[in-house]
Amino acid sequence: MHPNGHNQFTDDNEADNDGLTLKELFGRSGGLTYNDFIILPGFIDFSSDNVSLQSRLTKSITIKTPFISTPMDTVTESNMAIAMALNGGIGIIHHNCPVDYQVSEVRRVKRYEQGFITDPLVLAPTNTVADVYAIKKSHGFSGIPVTESGKINSKLLGLITFRDIDFLSKDQWSTIPVSQVMTPLDELITAKDDLTLKDAYSILQRSKKGKLPILDSDGNLVSLIARTDLEKNRDYPLTSKDSRRQLLCGAAIGTRKEDEKRLDALVQAGVDVVVLDSSQGNSIYQIDMIKRIKKLHPHIQVIAGNVVTQAQAKNLIEAGADALRVGMGSGSICITQEVMAVGRAQATAVFKVAEYARQFDIPVIADGGISCVGHIVKALTLGASCVMMGSLLAGTHEAPGDYYYQDGVRLKKYRGMGSLDAMNACQELSAASRYYSEADHIKVAQGVSGSVVDKGSVHRFIGGYLYTGVQKSLQDIGCQSIRQLHEASHTGAIKVEKRTASAQIEGGVHNLHSYEKRLF
Ligand code: GDP
Ligand code: GDP
Ligand code: 5GP
Repeated sequence: MHPNGHNQFTDDNEADNDGLTLKELFGRSGGLTYNDFIILPGFIDFSSDNVSLQSRLTKSITIKTPFISTPMDTVTESNMAIAMALNGGIGIIHHNCPVDYQVSEVRRVKRYEQGFITDPLVLAPTNTVADVYAIKKSHGFSGIPVTESGKINSKLLGLITFRDIDFLSKDQWSTIPVSQVMTPLDELITAKDDLTLKDAYSILQRSKKGKLPILDSDGNLVSLIARTDLEKNRDYPLTSKDSRRQLLCGAAIGTRKEDEKRLDALVQAGVDVVVLDSSQGNSIYQIDMIKRIKKLHPHIQVIAGNVVTQAQAKNLIEAGADALRVGMGSGSICITQEVMAVGRAQATAVFKVAEYARQFDIPVIADGGISCVGHIVKALTLGASCVMMGSLLAGTHEAPGDYYYQDGVRLKKYRGMGSLDAMNACQELSAASRYYSEADHIKVAQGVSGSVVDKGSVHRFIGGYLYTGVQKSLQDIGCQSIRQLHEASHTGAIKVEKRTASAQIEGGVHNLHSYEKRLF
């Protein structure tokens, strides 16, 4: 895109009128979804590596990649939030769990230091060699600390590795306790919890050991360092950090009285952003909660929502929201539009709310219905600063839950927070309150429970595929940054077109006998 906002390939006014501006398209049509329109290509005079995806998450937080993992119990706990932050995005820890659990997940993210395993698998002295083999089989590693209680934050007694047990025959596995074969504490090299990664590296180098247990002053195990991780020493130049260089972390809460306690505990744990989690955010409860947070914790950024209309957005912006989450019924697991007859097609919702919020400089997050790189780019073009994803991330290693096989396909469970499954999982808690009011005796599900395929690690999926994919797409459009994209959308320099049903068929794979769709 030429700096003056015109497509560089022509100064001809007639050629500039080819296609519609977003205002023209959305002014005329009913509700449109991402698939209902296409962006016309612009002019390329830069390489895709030079496209910046830096964007605003809220009024005062800017992140290097516009990706957010959604607060759902099959998507975001600490592992996901850590991986999202390392790759320049952010994770929002779900609240379908007791306060203590959510708080400890936030703490894990805030305390994360690359290289330190802060939740190592630990065994008790009474566990057997068979347990070590079981861990090796399910997790792939065998350097396991042994503590008094079999948990972290308990006295370290020794370390068991594969080398301690590989000479034992299989019939001995279930009878020999680890205490008998482990390397005991007095023969171990350990370190205190004030050491830096650099110190750890030199200790491991000198001692030629594979694991370095880290202890507090009472001899309790607090973390573990693996030599293999120091060797890998991956660099994450896009990492989202706060002013104290800790990873950025978000958490979701509801708007009920008991959520005030949850909020206070999350703030204590160092949360940077709270998301007020509601499918219909335009309520007196949410307005009160925003005002309360702004008064008691002015440094905490508040993402309010969800909204899909300008009137909803107006109320939450006036109450003090620092960003808006947009989407109602567009999520892959969601049946709100069908059951409640309320909602809005997602592309229209994002465009309308972003157009309104722009006047107040409030960033907008497109939430739900993102199923490919193209949807992310369309959401950004419509004015969203970031995208929030569920189904796209639920199949990654970092999402909670174990993989399982069905018909030979490796899957993970993914469920809507308004599904009966999620509401029953923690009935007295938040998911239920989001979609179920206490006055109701019957639950009305607004989501389903299903599965998604294995997507590998977030590091490769977000940091590799999505990041590069969005860069290349912005290059096709002719924009070198999200800021420039927003500007060009607003001035009408970016042109779009509606896609008929047959245009959508033409735009997909067609007329083949068979094919394999591998994306990266
Ligand atoms: P081991 O010698 O069999 O334990 O395996 P390595 O040290 O070669 O690899 C262990 C890898 O697993 C490292 O990248 C660790 O960061 C990772 N890992 C993740 N969680 C744990 C854990 O709870 N315990 C151990 N030992 N490793 C873990
Ligand atoms: P939603 O269904 O996703 O909009 O979830 P909400 O948690 O926003 O609302 C669930 C139900 O509880 C709705 O009937 C809300 O009107 C109601 N509600 C939300 N917050 C409060 C609150 O603080 N107090 C009371 N009494 N009701 C609330
Ligand atoms: P996805 O990325 O899978 O298309 O959508 C994820 C989004 O769907 C979430 O961020 C959230 O806004 C929304 N969502 C999550 N669970 C439910 C549910 O049970 N019902 C509805 N209506 N929306 C849900």
